[in-house]
Amino acid sequence: MKELPHGYTATIGLEVHAELDTNTKMFCQCKNDPFVASANTHICPICTAQPGTLPMVNKKAVEYVLRVGTAIDADLADFTEFDRKNYFYPDIPKAYQISQLEYPLVSNGKLAGVDITRIHLEEDTATSSHQTNHSLVDFNRAGVPLMELVTEPVIHDAETAMRFGKELQLLLRKLGVSHANLEKGEMRVEANISVSKTETFGTKVEVKNLNSFKIVGAAIDYEIDRQIEALENGEVLVQETRGWDEQKQSTFSQRVKESSDDYRYFPDPDIPKFKLSLLPGFSKEEISKTLPELPWKKRIRYADLGLNEEAIEFFLQEIELDTLFAGFIETVQDQKQIKLATNYITSDIAGLIKNSPEGNLSNISSESMVQLVSMIGENKISSRGAKDLISYVYTEGGEPATLAEKYDLLQSSNTDELKIIVEKIISENPDVVEKFKAGDAKLMQYFIGQGMKMTQGKANPQLLAQLVKEII
Ligand code: ADP
Ligand code: ZN
Ligand code: MG
Repeated sequence: MKELPHGYTATIGLEVHAELDTNTKMFCQCKNDPFVASANTHICPICTAQPGTLPMVNKKAVEYVLRVGTAIDADLADFTEFDRKNYFYPDIPKAYQISQLEYPLVSNGKLAGVDITRIHLEEDTATSSHQTNHSLVDFNRAGVPLMELVTEPVIHDAETAMRFGKELQLLLRKLGVSHANLEKGEMRVEANISVSKTETFGTKVEVKNLNSFKIVGAAIDYEIDRQIEALENGEVLVQETRGWDEQKQSTFSQRVKESSDDYRYFPDPDIPKFKLSLLPGFSKEEISKTLPELPWKKRIRYADLGLNEEAIEFFLQEIELDTLFAGFIETVQDQKQIKLATNYITSDIAGLIKNSPEGNLSNISSESMVQLVSMIGENKISSRGAKDLISYVYTEGGEPATLAEKYDLLQSSNTDELKIIVEKIISENPDVVEKFKAGDAKLMQYFIGQGMKMTQGKANPQLLAQLVKEII
């Protein structure tokens, strides 16, 4: 735990919302596409709260939350219900949000060492934009399924909070339940922060609108410092909601927080209560069979293959490149070759994706990776040639062996040909030969360099070195 001034301890609990990537909205058949360009196109009488309409629960959204709960080995609810959380705002057309209070779908999990209190399901609000003399409301986002995850107050520093957020984002993406971009508001992190010198918790402050992990960390660090300073100055902290000012790199007070009573929660009489065990396919056991390999399991498997942490995290983030790698290791088990493939995928191919819009990753099959790596292993191609070859495979597609021939990238291992070249180099550089003979071993590089030049980079450097030694 980080040492704080004057013997304080910081306590942090996170509340994370994530928009679920379902086809339709939470309680109606409207398309779930909140980022569509034209306002108020994905709307209907239900999500605009016309009188007499009734909500229908989106089964997929329930399943997605249960998937997350299963992945973090939490308890899945048997009985569950939806509640009305009442408040008025123009972006909340019913004047209440359908949420869950007493019976969340998921409770008691753990992720990245952080205890998770609950995950419940609710609906997103519309988006308002405030103009000079009026405000506009776009209902495309109203009713988009939203999961809310709440952690226990067990985090004590900004780094742990950020690590937890990133791990959750990774999990949501791996499970295919949310795109979870903070910048787009698909995932929203709120941090509750307090400091105390004693066993009892201090007054907590909730910081909202943190739209990157970097900001989450900065806001937590700022709040910890601010609260300690205030307490040391004899001030009394109030429970409030604060926002983040990116310009000033500081938090500012937005409002003194309502208690949960203010929302007058009560069970929504329009939605039937659920006994989840009666729904086929919704048990923890059945859902766990449908989960992909979870990040923490993949970390162990890849570490066993000899990958370093950086490469492992790279593959966890880059799903398509990971698929390429996964195909490769299905055929190749040799650690040295796996290392080569890892390097080419994480540096060269990743670079091509960024910088060569004319190419396509689908041009590189795992079979061509296998062929390419074995060509390098057999010295048929130099490491320089391999880089060029990967780029040709990426832009044109096709077999590496064929392309290597087409672009004349094959390394010359023809001893007789190279012998003539080496003899020529030696006869043309008598002074270098003398120094080499006198013990300047570094000059081998000079001979190899000349040999590569004379063969336009096609000579096998090991063979060149061997011939130089033999002939001298
Ligand atoms: P509220 O009733 O204000 O919503 P909750 O007890 O439901 O408060 O907790 C909301 C979030 O605040 C949770 O993530 C929880 O871990 C966190 N939290 C609760 N108490 C503290 C505290 N003293 N310091 C920091 N975080 C806290
Ligand atoms: Zn609708
Ligand atoms: Mg609460």
